Amino acid sequence: MTADVRLVLGNQLTLRNPALPVAGAGGATVLMIEAPGESTHVWSHKARIAVFLAAMRHFHRLLAGEGLLVEYVRLDDDDAPEFQVRLENALRRLGARTLTVAEPGDHRVAEHIRAACERLRVLLRVQPDTHFIVSTEEFRAWAGGRATLRMEHFYRYVRRRTGILMNGSEPEGGVWNLDGENRRGFGRQGPGLVPAPPSFVPDALTAEVLDLVSQRFADHPGDLATFGWPVTREQALVALKSFVDDRLAGFGPFQDAMWSRQPHLWHSLLSCALNLELLDPREVIDAALEAYRRHRLPLASVEGFVRQILGWREFVRGVYWLDMPGLARANHYGHDRPLPGWFWTGHTGMNCLREAIGQTLSLGYAHHIQRLMVIGNFALLAGLRPQEVSDWFLAVYVDAVEWVELPNTAGMALYANGGRFTSKPYVASGAYIQRMSDYCGGCRYDPASRSGAQACPVTLLYWAFIDRHESSLSSNPRTTLMARGVARLGSGERRTLRQEAQRVLATMETL
Ligand code: FAD
Ligand code: SF4
Repeated sequence: MTADVRLVLGNQLTLRNPALPVAGAGGATVLMIEAPGESTHVWSHKARIAVFLAAMRHFHRLLAGEGLLVEYVRLDDDDAPEFQVRLENALRRLGARTLTVAEPGDHRVAEHIRAACERLRVLLRVQPDTHFIVSTEEFRAWAGGRATLRMEHFYRYVRRRTGILMNGSEPEGGVWNLDGENRRGFGRQGPGLVPAPPSFVPDALTAEVLDLVSQRFADHPGDLATFGWPVTREQALVALKSFVDDRLAGFGPFQDAMWSRQPHLWHSLLSCALNLELLDPREVIDAALEAYRRHRLPLASVEGFVRQILGWREFVRGVYWLDMPGLARANHYGHDRPLPGWFWTGHTGMNCLREAIGQTLSLGYAHHIQRLMVIGNFALLAGLRPQEVSDWFLAVYVDAVEWVELPNTAGMALYANGGRFTSKPYVASGAYIQRMSDYCGGCRYDPASRSGAQACPVTLLYWAFIDRHESSLSSNPRTTLMARGVARLGSGERRTLRQEAQRVLATMETL
């Protein structure tokens, strides 16, 4: 029996976890829980389930090796499937008086923990999660009183506060933002040879998890044939080094570009290891800065990468905790169309979506622009229900944890929170996808056409969206040009546009 229980959640796998007791001090029990309900509350990709379980089991082994006493509840234990019930049962078994945990990454899980402690009259101690560079309190103080939240302002604030990429009070290189150099497509010649990221051969513990997931979650999306994600800190460090040595230099210019059957390109693939806390964001940034200094990597690439970690990653976490639980229900446009079935199969004639969803379903990975400007863009233009879209994004990516997934989906991709932190809805026609990828070349639709059998659904729905929202778009300086484009169309053309859009939406399952 132990009164002092320390809960380690599946995305808090670091020895720096503030909830962990000091090794050898005795008395406290570390509690880790695998719960089947966490893999089914959204219909999770097999690789996502496997990443969590394999990383948790390796971390359990590490903790035991450190001499800590660990109560580990396994997926197949004879217990209820729900996390909260498993937690309550474990707290009873251990005779818990206090439960200590670092801030959970998910509002729902935080509520389960609070409710379990309340029911059992266990004192709950929630510690700030020191994995993050900006605490929830600091973010709240920064955001307080601001009418709009902008990542760029936050990012400059954190760079000044931390001194990262600063020369005194001036930004390194004299400018805060090198986005102008970083929006290149590959052109006709394509990406050429891009160094492959490492893939980690499953050891016995991981292989056991892969077998378990294949059997127990056989009907879930995805497959495990190519599973090679880092699930230990050692592997995560290898992944970090490989990115910094081989791909960081090319990251900046091509971070928005896409190419068929090239899922990784110059991206880091570190989100999963970061979100499990196998890597600390500070060490990831330090590794990039070290390469910048030593090997004179281009500032556009290094700053572009630092901006993702120090800027976007910290920012969306702050927004999530500021705006929950309302963010999960947000639906600015009142969109209510269900997800077409091909989101779960990738079987669509729209090549951009077939590529982006296809690679997602096979690997559990797509890079940011595929998520935002291909899948998210279609979901917004087609008026899909934000909560369903968000559940899909939470289910299918190996790096999906709600604090980062939800603000990106509801806030950035779907504008469901009405522009709380984006200055405009991110919408694009087929012309953008044609510029940034080779997808349109292999498509049965024509990106330039918005009527007739060959009309690109993305282009058509883009124009129909602008038509629908002309008045709000014309009053926003960042979207007046879009609104002017639709205003130039004659009334007959606009009527045809609406009819064609209705036709496409009515046949969405077969696009
Ligand atoms: P890179 O392109 O190499 O970027 C480097 C790192 O920066 C990433 O590893 C990540 O930690 C961070 N980063 C980059 N962009 C963002 C961003 N917009 N928000 C927060 N961090 C960012 N990221 C997740 O980690 N989990 C999610 O569930 C998730 N869901 C998303 C859903 C949508 C609709 C969109 C548009 C984006 C989502 N993102 C999510 C953000 C981003 O797409 C991924 O972090 C990135 O694609 C991961 O691949 P990478 O490690 O190769 O990233
Ligand atoms: Fe996507 Fe349209 Fe291009 Fe086809 S033509 S790949 S649907 S943007």
